[in-house]
Amino acid sequence: QKCLSLIRKTKFLNAYITVSEEVALKQAEESEKRYKEGQSLGDLDGIPISVKDNFSTSGIETTCASNMLKGYIPPYNATVVQKLLDQGAVLMGKTNLDEFAMGSGSTDGIFGPVKNPWSFSRQYREKRQQTPCGENKDSNWLITGGSSGGSAAAVAAFTCFAALGSDTGGSTRNPAAHCGLVGFKPSYGLVSRHGLIPLVNSMDVPGILTRCVDDTAIVLDVLAGHDPKDSTTVQDPVKPLMPSSLTDVSKLCIGIPKEYLVPELSSEVRSVWSKAADLFESEGAKVIEVSLPHTCYSIVCYHVLCTAEVASNMARFDGLEYGHRCDTNVSTEAMYATTRREGFNDVVRGRILSGNFFLLKENYENYFIKAQKVRRLIANDFVNVFNSGVDVLLTPTTLSEAVPYLEFIKEDNRTRSAQDDIFTQAVNMAGLPAVNIPVALSHQGLPVGLQFIGPAFCDKQVLTVAKWFE
Ligand code: GLN
Repeated sequence: QKCLSLIRKTKFLNAYITVSEEVALKQAEESEKRYKEGQSLGDLDGIPISVKDNFSTSGIETTCASNMLKGYIPPYNATVVQKLLDQGAVLMGKTNLDEFAMGSGSTDGIFGPVKNPWSFSRQYREKRQQTPCGENKDSNWLITGGSSGGSAAAVAAFTCFAALGSDTGGSTRNPAAHCGLVGFKPSYGLVSRHGLIPLVNSMDVPGILTRCVDDTAIVLDVLAGHDPKDSTTVQDPVKPLMPSSLTDVSKLCIGIPKEYLVPELSSEVRSVWSKAADLFESEGAKVIEVSLPHTCYSIVCYHVLCTAEVASNMARFDGLEYGHRCDTNVSTEAMYATTRREGFNDVVRGRILSGNFFLLKENYENYFIKAQKVRRLIANDFVNVFNSGVDVLLTPTTLSEAVPYLEFIKEDNRTRSAQDDIFTQAVNMAGLPAVNIPVALSHQGLPVGLQFIGPAFCDKQVLTVAKWFE
């Protein structure tokens, strides 16, 4: 009830696309009954959790914030949603995102942008009065980051205890950094993608957003494991995943990738990063500079691979099987074309066009195959560093703290928003576990996060270090 009332009070944040109030109340009631009758409880019994609107939810509209899927009601639950429900979680609703999770601001969906709850904190408001950017109060709020910005705002505004996001190039870690949350991207193959509407199949993973590391671990423990419906999930037993309590970090080796010290990095994030490294060192950990030499190719490489997979994935939206169908009935081809023009925004259409260009017979070798080779080099950079004895990498998550919406949507900033993924995308191309944790407040009173990255399937190790640092 408390979470539902907070959802109502914070409606202006635009965090939710659908609030599943009836479902939530019924589940909460059943949970209370189980508790009162002394029945055995699930790991998440009675815990309010929200889910990004690109996970299929049986009987609940799933839109991907796109006209294409408006009104689409899936007949089944994504495996991760089913696992939450099986453990007694209370489903609060479906959260807002960039259309089909393409973006890093949560500003590009058909339901409008998500507002960062920190824009309304007293500390930030007071500081902003003194700065010249405050003239348009109503529109000068901050973005949440994205694309899982609705999930981040939902957790940050206390409307739920955890939320599912998805992470293809940083979409869980980026909004977590801007909203002061823990945002976890599991190793590729640890958590099932079945029922997560795909963006880039070879990089997508379900992500978890919470207010502390232990909460993330509890949810991860429920979600992880082989799923016969997702052949890319690993067969090996992966549990338990709860982080250990580290008291001593003197045996730890922390790597600081020198290529991540980019000129665009804000001085504020840079100083938080360097203080964090100093802290590890003063507590006895070995902190060394390492090199990930192919980092400079990661944005371009991601772009080719992402759009190629998008072009292929989006082909299923033809007006026949799911969601939107236009009124035109001149010919089947005209129906496809009009449906897709009406259904997708310009970001999605742009990616379909780029992807099909890279996949043309004459371009395939030069772009797609070459990008795959570069991806391997990027992934090997990480393997080399971890093989040299580094336990985890410590990096920034984003270039700066959250920026005002009006600044973010300026045309010349679009390139910057692609640049913003510089610290997160390579991790997806390599399939590694990584987590953002909130570390400090900037002089403006906004959260600054840092990222820990670990070797593949060392998810527990990443969470353990994050927990020590938290
Ligand atoms: N910003 C990246 C993109 O637009 C990542 C998105 C994501 O992780 N879903 O592709």
